[in-house]
Amino acid sequence: MADKKITIALAGNPNSGKTTLFNTLTGSNQFVGNWPGVTVEKKEGRLKKHDDVMIEDLPGIYSLSPYTMEEVVSRNFLIDEKPDGILNIVDGTNLERNLYLTTQLSELGIPMVVAVNMLDLVEKNGDTINLDKLSSVIGCPVVAISALKGTNVAEAAEKAVAAARSGKAPKPAAFSADTEAVLQKIADLLPGVPESLKRWYTIKVFERDDKVMARLNPDSRISDIIKAAETAADDDSESIVTNERYEFITRSLQGVYSKKGAGELSVSDRIDKIVTNRWLALPIFFVIMWLVYYVSVTTVGTWVTDWTNDGLFGDGYFLFGNGREQYDEAMNGYYAENIWTDEVIANVDKAVEAGVPGADEIQAAIAEEDYGAFDEAYEFYGVELDEKENGVYSISETVDAALEAEGVPAPEDFGTWVKGVPVIVEGFLDGIGVNDFLKGLIIDGIIGGVGAVLGFVPQMLVLFLFLAFLESCGYMARIAFVMDRLFRKFGLSGKSFIPVLIGTGCGVPGVMASRTIENERDRRMTIMTTTFIPCGAKLPIIAMIATALFHGAAWVATSAYFLGMAAIIVSGIILKKTKMFAGEPAPFVMELPAYHWPTVSNILRSTWERGWSFIKKAGTIILLSSIVIWLGSTFGWTDGAFGWNPDLELEESVLGAIGNAVKWIFAPLGFDNIKATIATVMGLVAKEEVVGVFGVLDFEGLTPLAGYSFLAFNLLCAPCFAAIGAIRREMNNAKWTWFAIGYQCLLAYVVAFIIYQIGGVFTGTGNVIGMIVALALIAGIGWLLFRPYKEAARLESITA
Ligand code: GDP
Ligand code: MG
Repeated sequence: MADKKITIALAGNPNSGKTTLFNTLTGSNQFVGNWPGVTVEKKEGRLKKHDDVMIEDLPGIYSLSPYTMEEVVSRNFLIDEKPDGILNIVDGTNLERNLYLTTQLSELGIPMVVAVNMLDLVEKNGDTINLDKLSSVIGCPVVAISALKGTNVAEAAEKAVAAARSGKAPKPAAFSADTEAVLQKIADLLPGVPESLKRWYTIKVFERDDKVMARLNPDSRISDIIKAAETAADDDSESIVTNERYEFITRSLQGVYSKKGAGELSVSDRIDKIVTNRWLALPIFFVIMWLVYYVSVTTVGTWVTDWTNDGLFGDGYFLFGNGREQYDEAMNGYYAENIWTDEVIANVDKAVEAGVPGADEIQAAIAEEDYGAFDEAYEFYGVELDEKENGVYSISETVDAALEAEGVPAPEDFGTWVKGVPVIVEGFLDGIGVNDFLKGLIIDGIIGGVGAVLGFVPQMLVLFLFLAFLESCGYMARIAFVMDRLFRKFGLSGKSFIPVLIGTGCGVPGVMASRTIENERDRRMTIMTTTFIPCGAKLPIIAMIATALFHGAAWVATSAYFLGMAAIIVSGIILKKTKMFAGEPAPFVMELPAYHWPTVSNILRSTWERGWSFIKKAGTIILLSSIVIWLGSTFGWTDGAFGWNPDLELEESVLGAIGNAVKWIFAPLGFDNIKATIATVMGLVAKEEVVGVFGVLDFEGLTPLAGYSFLAFNLLCAPCFAAIGAIRREMNNAKWTWFAIGYQCLLAYVVAFIIYQIGGVFTGTGNVIGMIVALALIAGIGWLLFRPYKEAARLESITA
């Protein structure tokens, strides 16, 4: 009987200890590859002391829905490859959440053993788990283990092997009588489905799971059965099933898990007394978020980003900074002698008096004898001086001549000078005699565009590192809890906050996370508002505006974050007061995991995963669009003839023509600037593009106020195509998708308009009509915020 080779799948939530267990069970006996057709890692290994048993480490998942690559891979494996047994590992300190997956695994008709992991932690907390009772309610053998300490690990494996050999499937979770009756009706209309998978397919058909529907193409009468059930429960079928699962878990866990005597406060509880305190919680959260953004965007971030932009993807840099000081000194001396001549100083002084934008910065740089600051200000505002009074203020001739002349200090003479990527590539291309078109394409188009985006990777990694830490130590869960208290005051559910949190990384999983919200109206509202929070890709936009227009002030990043939060809360309140979204928020129950020090490898992995997906995007979609932008900006009309010309003014290019045609839309927001217009439009492809556009077309000509308005618009308007796709999938309805996009763009427009017009009053660039309209809009928003809840809505929520 021991002849047959068997396969056991190791399944469980992320961080439940699968990899730890897998390594213990298989020793070094493992093969790592990819699942066919996808890049999710596949790990296989032979069970120690059992040559005929293979263990397959499935990706960590929370459920078997068809929404993420990991879930799809796991389901396909379980259904199509049909392993002989499942060893389901669950985190004993977080049973409730972990058993959700267990209820789904138990429907597959595959023999299963549940390994309750982290026994050491459970015992340390003084808690106890009644294994016999748990085993009888979930209908399969249960073993308590500690994968880390190796406790009972071999026993769990033996039980799984025995279960697999016996072929005895677990008992699936039982739902309420109503739901069971509906499922029975559906099951009767599903002939031809293998008996062992009947429960699974029935439930998936009830949930209208795309993949299963496509595979089975079931009887059309089923659709009516589902609709009737949904009307009866006033909920969609997927939520019905989710509720049933949680109810089953709640019932099952009664008397199974007992916490150590109440009244005693653990360290975790004591921290929570402060961190979730009614008055202190929000201020603490603000301070933490401010610190996180301050460190990642302003200090560490700027330092590394400057190096990447000006050094690695710029002219070059000194190895380890050796020679930097001497070189700077020499340059300052050279500038003082050849550039900051009496004539130039007089011109700049005149320009300052006449109020030419930026002239004061150039003046200050000269006064401080800082060539770096001078270059930066000159690059930015030199044009302004040139344009004024037929060149009376112009200093460009002197500057250009001095920089072209012999005798400019060469960095190579002061230390080990490492040339930047563009310089190296240019040298190489010149060497092999590439024509100008190709050279421009590679250096300005590709390296310029992709480099500008990659320059923000270090900054983002720092941010992701902090977020990963806050997430895995358990703080973020507290914030959701605190936010629930706040949101509830406005009639919103704290559950809406989890998608927002996830959305700080990327809007796509953020939007997808909204599916944990059972109430359809709350869910739709959350989908519509989640992407207001700045995602990782919007961070470079914030950093760019902060650095270029606000001297890297930390408040820009922090305010952008809170602008997003405010947009979410304000939208929540406004929408909740419309008839479409009225109703009481769903109660929010969540286990707060104990605080703990996350492992370094976990944090690094999560940081890297987020960062890597960003880098991948830079290598594909951003690469392509950088090329398109570069082509669009170098093809155009010179003296009426169309053709390629690297020195084309933006206005004369194809891109410029397009920008010109639509820029009027943004005039009331202060950025009827071709580049800002193109950047905004390209932002729909991917938000990283916004920075990419400025990278390829280089930065110029936004006032700080217009810049901030531009920032506000780009943060709040419709997200990138990928996130819009996610919205479409989650809404599962074209009309709602368009409504969401329309709402986001409208809100973005109104907010940017108010910022620009009211800000104009203070900077002296405002006009009366704009201000009146802005005040009217503010009054309108105020009315929407403070009007009473709809009478109809009240009644509905009472009877619902
Ligand atoms: P996976 O994501 O499911 O593969 O989980 P890992 O094997 O990477 O484990 C996640 C974290 O939990 C790691 O930091 C492990 O060291 C820790 N861990 C795993 N099993 C145990 C256990 O039995 N007790 C304790 N205290 N920690 C564990
Ligand atoms: Mg793992």
